[in-house]
Amino acid sequence: MPSPALIAEALRIIDDLLDVQVDEAKRQYYYEEILLKRVIEGASQSGPCEACDENVAAGWIDSEAVYPSGDDGPEFHPYCVCIEEYKESRKRVYL
Ligand SMILES: [Zn+2]
Repeated sequence: MPSPALIAEALRIIDDLLDVQVDEAKRQYYYEEILLKRVIEGASQSGPCEACDENVAAGWIDSEAVYPSGDDGPEFHPYCVCIEEYKESRKRVYL
């Protein structure tokens, strides 16, 4: 038979574990659908410009955002052949 002190300690540990589970259950969240975009560098005879390098390096960004060059999409410079790619994603929004 375990001692009363040991039983009390075990009960305290179980209680703590249950508290953690309740806390996690209370952290409610939902998923928000978001649209992302990125630049895929095109190849032209005159080569890519600096603005394109920067914009390509930025990777996936929010579809509402502007690229590092300050543009919201191609063309970034005369004769720019870069294209944009879009994808849907989702992020957790905590209440
Ligand atoms: Zn370009």
